[in-house]
Amino acid sequence: MSSRIIDRVIAEIDRAADEIVALTVDLVRIPTINPPGEAYEPSARLIGDWLKRAGFDVDFIVADGRPEHTSRFPRVNVMGARRGATRGPVVHFNGHTDVVPAGDGWTIDPFAGVVRDGRIYGRGVCDMKAGLAAAMFAAEALRRAEVPLAGTIEISGTVDEESGGFAGVAWLAERGRIANGRTDFVIIPEPLDVDRICIGHRGVYWFELLLTGRIAHGSMPFLGVSAIDAMGRVLEAIRTDLQPALAARSTAMPVVPVGARHATINVNGIDGGQPVDGIQTPCVADKCRAVFDRRFLIEEGFEASKGEIEALVRRAIGATPGVASSIRDLMIVHPVVTPDGSPLVAALDREIRRVLGRPATLVASPGTYDHKHVARIAGVPHCVAYGPGALELAHQPDEWCGIDDLVSSTKVMALTTLDLMGILAG
Ligand SMILES: [Zn+2]
Repeated sequence: MSSRIIDRVIAEIDRAADEIVALTVDLVRIPTINPPGEAYEPSARLIGDWLKRAGFDVDFIVADGRPEHTSRFPRVNVMGARRGATRGPVVHFNGHTDVVPAGDGWTIDPFAGVVRDGRIYGRGVCDMKAGLAAAMFAAEALRRAEVPLAGTIEISGTVDEESGGFAGVAWLAERGRIANGRTDFVIIPEPLDVDRICIGHRGVYWFELLLTGRIAHGSMPFLGVSAIDAMGRVLEAIRTDLQPALAARSTAMPVVPVGARHATINVNGIDGGQPVDGIQTPCVADKCRAVFDRRFLIEEGFEASKGEIEALVRRAIGATPGVASSIRDLMIVHPVVTPDGSPLVAALDREIRRVLGRPATLVASPGTYDHKHVARIAGVPHCVAYGPGALELAHQPDEWCGIDDLVSSTKVMALTTLDLMGILAG
């Protein structure tokens, strides 16, 4: 029984390969560039109309009230649900519709949807319009194969993942559209490769450090206190003390690339004294600001990571009388990890083996993505990222996704849905 269902579903997906490519191309041709958040509405309409034709009940969910939702750049999300004949788990596929700007270095039109040599090219193909198309056709193949569902398939296309996802997945989660108690499993088809399952990410702590000294005449700097000199001491302490300490810590999470298995810190920017392009006056810099990006490990935790920074700043400027410091938190994202023994990971692993003939590799992401909102706001523990395309190609010029991987991942998603609904057992 179950092997006949599997054969039918696989055959439907192979037959639909050109349609999956065409849907990906259609999505890529809508330039949903973020920032500023262009063309979200036509993108949501395309997905919503497609889902309606595929038998889904569809809602458009607008992030009314978020400051980034404007009449010029409306934040429009779409969500569809297709309920089965019998009750069972709710399996939710979520893809972000926004893409980062094309940038320089392209050899083809980034929004033409060029298909060549078994690949689809374009901005947002791998991150993550191919993944969204795969999820849509995973559901469609189950319909065409006339498999009676024991549960519900949901598909959402959401905005702003690249800028934090607050008007997107966070908005849906805050409104209970993705929620513990109604959503059992969430699969986010980010480009993690066709045989890898991403179980979470490190934490993020962005902060601004402001150092204040005392202004004085630049010909007599010894009469003032330079905030830039003080920042130099902080940067030196980061380089000589903190960075080696962070590099010595590693997480048990399978973060890729391996270098990101350690804690890290990066200086995003620095600003002190007079604007260097302006007319110069002889003044000691009384202010210097820098913004830092600290990625912390689940084993470190946020409080300890922040406390370590505060202590470092105190030590670095402690010997300099007249310098004051303040730290302002800009963004805090706690690490997330799918629980050990999650049935979602087990099902995906089984179906990756079935479709590709090799075991899945568990990975974690060096950066954050919408998993955080699913875990933290919606409270749904069983969430992973799984989708076609290579992470290294995301945000690059000439971004592409291989058609073979696109089709394989569609099969994995379709069979995983049935696996989670218990349809493949026995
Ligand atoms: Zn993405």
